Amino acid sequence: MEQALEILRNTFGYRDFRGEQQDIINHVLAGNDALVLMPTGGGKSLCYQVPAMLRPGTGIIISPLIALMQDQVSALLQLGIRAAFLNSTLPAQTVRETEQGLLNNDMDLLYIAPERLLQERTLALLERTQLALFAIDEAHCVSQWGHDFRKDYLALDQLHQRFPSVPRIALTATADERTRYEIRERLGLEQAKVYISGFNRPNIRYRITTRLEERKQLLHFLETEHQGDAGIVYCLSRKKTEAVAGWLTAQGRTALPYHAGLESRVRYRHQQRFLQEEGIIIVATIAFGMGIDKPDVRFVAHLDLPKSIEAYYQETGRAGRDGAVADAWMVYGLEDVVKLRQMLETSDADETHKRVERYKLDSMLGLCEITSCRRHALLQYFGEEAPVRCGNCDTCLHPVETWDGTTAARKALSCVYRTGQLFGARHLIDVLLGKENDKVRKFGHQRLSTFGIGEELGMEQWRSVFRQLIARGFLSVDLKGFGSLLLTDQSRPLLQGEAQVFLRKDDRIKKPTRKQRKTPLQVSDPELFEKLKDCRKQLAVKQGLPPYVIFHDSTLVEMTQRLPSGPDELLQVSGVGAHKLEQYGETFLAVIRAHRDELI
Ligand code: ADP
Ligand code: ZN
Repeated sequence: MEQALEILRNTFGYRDFRGEQQDIINHVLAGNDALVLMPTGGGKSLCYQVPAMLRPGTGIIISPLIALMQDQVSALLQLGIRAAFLNSTLPAQTVRETEQGLLNNDMDLLYIAPERLLQERTLALLERTQLALFAIDEAHCVSQWGHDFRKDYLALDQLHQRFPSVPRIALTATADERTRYEIRERLGLEQAKVYISGFNRPNIRYRITTRLEERKQLLHFLETEHQGDAGIVYCLSRKKTEAVAGWLTAQGRTALPYHAGLESRVRYRHQQRFLQEEGIIIVATIAFGMGIDKPDVRFVAHLDLPKSIEAYYQETGRAGRDGAVADAWMVYGLEDVVKLRQMLETSDADETHKRVERYKLDSMLGLCEITSCRRHALLQYFGEEAPVRCGNCDTCLHPVETWDGTTAARKALSCVYRTGQLFGARHLIDVLLGKENDKVRKFGHQRLSTFGIGEELGMEQWRSVFRQLIARGFLSVDLKGFGSLLLTDQSRPLLQGEAQVFLRKDDRIKKPTRKQRKTPLQVSDPELFEKLKDCRKQLAVKQGLPPYVIFHDSTLVEMTQRLPSGPDELLQVSGVGAHKLEQYGETFLAVIRAHRDELI
């Protein structure tokens, strides 16, 4: 174990293991199997990297993320670790060299795509190689329950039949129990020790805002809180990603679309720019992000509602892997509720499947509408206990007011009833507000008893009432896909005056505050920080690497605080190990020295 700590300090430049890292490493070092469930950014990689370096032979890392292998390997090479990858993008010559390196036992870590691994040729090669361990990354890909299912993963159960003495460690950030069960069963890991870390991501601030004018709201959020930061904006449709990316570009940001309909060359280029350059915004459908391990994504914004809390948590989880402050921000409105309910009800899925989807969507809507702590609700969904208030979500920071919406709800429901359960929210609101337009006259709705009974509320408020009634199951959306609202079993007691309902007071009426949040990183000397970033950028560009592979932001920030004057002091900074000190130490020390001299 001494050795593991030595590697952590010398090679990685970190002082201590985090959470369960040490236990997991010990367990695998001793040749045992493990299943590791840790949130994104929790530090899963060290759990296999360290034992792979300490055990004789090469550690084989199975990952579906071909596009990222290059960067993962570059990052390891920067640390002075002997690493390589094998996938379909490599020229034959490189493949041969890598294979030879493997046979010569010149390698600590080899990244490999599952389809490549499972080729008979590769398996035969591995049989002639000394193997330290197998690490199965993104292990939830073996589960058909989630949305990242990969067929190749199913065949990975061969590994323990063919290499019974090689320890296996499976890792994922997916929290739910069913996925966990499937991983164990399908990968033959029933005997493996399971390590479950808490799933909380304390550095992420959750916010869900009512949609007013989404572009304006997004721009305001970016301008006041994320000038120059890298982030991801999620949209439901391909078309919308392109429109929003174009619009953000016109506003002076560098924004690139990403969706499955783009040519793979374009997708790859956009992803690479996101990784390699600073301050790029990717506007994407859910096709983007699986395993993106860019550590300095400062925000994830949703312009459309995800279909489940699992999806929301996975997508927002891509923010702040480096542990620094990050935002999960979403706008949400009546149209999301109607659209998602409609999509669900009109899909061809069988009833059992729909029931599951309905439960997931209801949970997601519940999260949007709650007036208590969002983090508490999220963690509770994953079966984790948490304090009732986290202090770092919108509802904790600005407690939501509620109002007695019983009368309004009764008016709304009775308007649905009087109009024959044939209309959508827009028409119903016109009736409630007493607007005598063509459609109202066409159906004679100006003669209904509910015509004009809702003038005490404005249009936005009525939209909020309808949204909450649908989200909470007092109204359902028709199955034919016209968006008509229908009464439910739950609406009866309310209509009959036997129940009360409290509604959320939306923040839309309030003006967005101009208050600027303090910069996410605690930079004591912004000027020096910029200089260090410049220096990092030059080094990165020269080698064709993403800047964070040289040093993370947090490492540069620590440099501005400690102002190291020589190599020994620089080595004290977290993230500076022996190899990087040798490679870059002098360059960064020179920047710090020059800056200090300027100040004297
Ligand atoms: P995951 O794969 O679980 O999302 P990573 O392995 O990429 O997380 O680690 C997330 C970040 O935390 C990385 O920047 C990594 O270098 C850093 N990290 C991991 N373990 C430690 C540690 N013991 N001390 C300091 N930083 C760490
Ligand atoms: Zn909270």
